[in-house]
Amino acid sequence: MKKIIRNTYLAIIAIDILLLIFVPIHPQSNSKDKPNIVSSLFIGYDIVRNLTKDTAIKAKMLLPAGAELHSYEPSPQDIITIKESDIFIYNGGESEEWLEDIVDEIDQTKTTIIRMMDYVELLEEDDEAGEYDEHIWTSPKNVQIIYSKITPVIVQKYPEFANRIQANFEAQNNALAKLDQDFRTLASTKTGKLIVADRFPLRYFVEEYGFDYYAAFPGCAEQTEANAKTISELINAVNESPKKVIFHIELSNQSIANTIKDATGAKILEFHSVHNISQSDFDAGKTYIDFMRQNYNNLNETLYVPSES
Ligand SMILES: [Zn+2]
Repeated sequence: MKKIIRNTYLAIIAIDILLLIFVPIHPQSNSKDKPNIVSSLFIGYDIVRNLTKDTAIKAKMLLPAGAELHSYEPSPQDIITIKESDIFIYNGGESEEWLEDIVDEIDQTKTTIIRMMDYVELLEEDDEAGEYDEHIWTSPKNVQIIYSKITPVIVQKYPEFANRIQANFEAQNNALAKLDQDFRTLASTKTGKLIVADRFPLRYFVEEYGFDYYAAFPGCAEQTEANAKTISELINAVNESPKKVIFHIELSNQSIANTIKDATGAKILEFHSVHNISQSDFDAGKTYIDFMRQNYNNLNETLYVPSES
């Protein structure tokens, strides 16, 4: 017994010495504030936050709220945060190419890496052969699949919270199944076009349900100035629709939507592609499902029963 106590005492002294050596060098790695699961984008963060609700597991989003996903550049602190996490979740598309080198350097015996694009069927980009469209989360069906893949990874890492995480998963899975069914019903009972005066990162969404659409620009093209032909095609599409609605995506300057509104008297509505969310929505705790419900309502208002036309 004495020996055990003495050994324990020596071990504590050894740990104290280690702390004295390392703490001043890494003043930020205080384990109390350190996130456990780090996600590069809002969608990964939202999934983790929902799955770890009512546990001690801390989630963090790397991309600052309101920042443009496609031009985001990481800070040195971001890289430290990734390397110190238990689980790191990224999407894995073109706009996250900068992450691949960092991922290669991660000690995978410490940090489990999840690449969401590995989990779903990918669509090739229209304009670039061999490049895949990265906006997989715009399909609720894909998000449901990603939840089912991420859940066991988190459970394995934190078995003490397994029951709670599993219950959280069931709740999210049910809500997503309902959302998916509602979009399916909408697509089968109503007709019309989703007309977007903006970039169009929504191919996974429209192709999942078979919604008809017309957009100013494909994917997340750099281009944001519409030429005369695009403007006139948008105007024609709105004029041909019994419900005159023009959509923009989130964090947009809405300049093309306003042009179309001026020409047609159309109502402007938002389709939130959940690339990233504004600081105020972030502070209000809005979720992927909140945004997709808002999209459902706006689309329901825009499409029409064939006999109504
Ligand atoms: Zn995009």
